[in-house]
Amino acid sequence: MKYVSTRNNKDIQNASFAILNSLSKDGGLYVPENFPKFSKKDLEKLSSLNYTDLCFEILKLFFDEFDENDLKDAIEKAYGKFKEKIVGFKKMDAITNLELFWGPTLAFKDMALSLLPYLLKLSVKKENFKKNIMILTATSGDTGKASLEAFKDVENTEITVLYPTDGVSEIQKLQMATTTGKNTHVYAIKGNFDDCQRKVKEIFENDEMKNFADENNFIFSSANSINIGRLLPQIVYYFYAYFRIIENENMNILDKIDVSVPTGNFGDILAGIYAKEMNLPIKNFIVASNSNNVLTDFFNTKIYDSKRNLIKTSSPSMDILISSNLERYLYLLCKDTNVINKKMNELKNTGKFKRDLDFPDDISAKFATEKDVSETIYNAYLSYNYIMDPHSAIAFFAMKNNLKRQSLVISTASCYKFPNKILESLKLDPDKDIEKNLQLLSFYATYEIPDELKDLKNKKILHKEILSKNEIEEKIKTLLEKK
Ligand SMILES: *Cc1c(COP(=O)(O)O)cnc(C)c1O
Repeated sequence: MKYVSTRNNKDIQNASFAILNSLSKDGGLYVPENFPKFSKKDLEKLSSLNYTDLCFEILKLFFDEFDENDLKDAIEKAYGKFKEKIVGFKKMDAITNLELFWGPTLAFKDMALSLLPYLLKLSVKKENFKKNIMILTATSGDTGKASLEAFKDVENTEITVLYPTDGVSEIQKLQMATTTGKNTHVYAIKGNFDDCQRKVKEIFENDEMKNFADENNFIFSSANSINIGRLLPQIVYYFYAYFRIIENENMNILDKIDVSVPTGNFGDILAGIYAKEMNLPIKNFIVASNSNNVLTDFFNTKIYDSKRNLIKTSSPSMDILISSNLERYLYLLCKDTNVINKKMNELKNTGKFKRDLDFPDDISAKFATEKDVSETIYNAYLSYNYIMDPHSAIAFFAMKNNLKRQSLVISTASCYKFPNKILESLKLDPDKDIEKNLQLLSFYATYEIPDELKDLKNKKILHKEILSKNEIEEKIKTLLEKK
């Protein structure tokens, strides 16, 4: 399997190169050259596998250059870190909620980030790569902690996380700031998530920074979903969830379902779209957004307009105006690097672009206001005795309003990461003290406060530096020099 840049169809690389470098030289994103297609028989066979075996069967098609035993071992190790289960399910009438928050940091980012360090290690081995790796990560909250945990104390690797000072929840901030490990670096940035993400991309494209890294025996790589190694493992849970729905609803193997995904950077939903490319029987996708509804507008008007104020919502991991993986989706639709270059340049220069053609009819978009989120959380508690986090509630809301058949809703974070909004939605008064809020929430939630969040207040704050946007490069240089 080869990977091609969305901005240059002559830039064709193997998986190891794409994983190690993240972005192509021209700023494009690597995508698989083609998608393996499963037959009905293949799907039948895959349907009985457990999560890790299914993961292996799917990923070996994309990562065929790695030794199969190494890949299998990596998958076992990565998901071995999930304590209770790898994924969970909650059925609510015709909607099945896929819980992707049972990993070490309680958000769906763990599904791919737990595996990424192992994929990088296999890539290093494959390429006979001698340099150290500086992972640069912009986060709207969850990617930060998930990548810190995944790369903590991994040899020959440093991990740097940039998060918007006021753009993440209190718990997300505490989770990151208390991370141990000799190679972890966390900075609060005076700006929003888009500023952090833009900065990371700029550093990747900045020759001076790249040379500086090179002189210090480093390359930059990314743990954001711009890295194809981060995206492909996410395909697996769409298959796994489909098979469970088929089983539980006594459906037949080619019967179709609809899928709703809470969307920010368009990575999660793109993995579902890739699964459909591989013949997973999905009828419709719903791109669910919060009040930062650029994507809803885009799918309704064909105009992508990021020129608006970023609104701080109760779903901070979706507070994004520049959705990077949209580029991969547009490439999938047109396969034309000229079009992509043109549109991405327009976006960069004017903050806007227009899609010329209609969208396929299997995709639509909807957004939820803060009031919609509160009502959804409240009603799901009353009707199903189930507590959702605000991100998951957005996808549930979008699906509930457009329910046509058995459907899958992707649930991306544990409710315990966002206690305040949930308590308010339940018409309770949140306290100033996080721990009291977690306690109160635990009376309503169906599972206990996760260990990761117990005692958070007593953990030592190890990362407190705040940087302005123009201090980031210098800071990263000092990190590269120290090694
Ligand atoms: C990252 C994140 C999302 C958005 O996922 P994308 O792949 O960026 O679209 C949604 N919910 C939660 C909780 C997240 O952490």
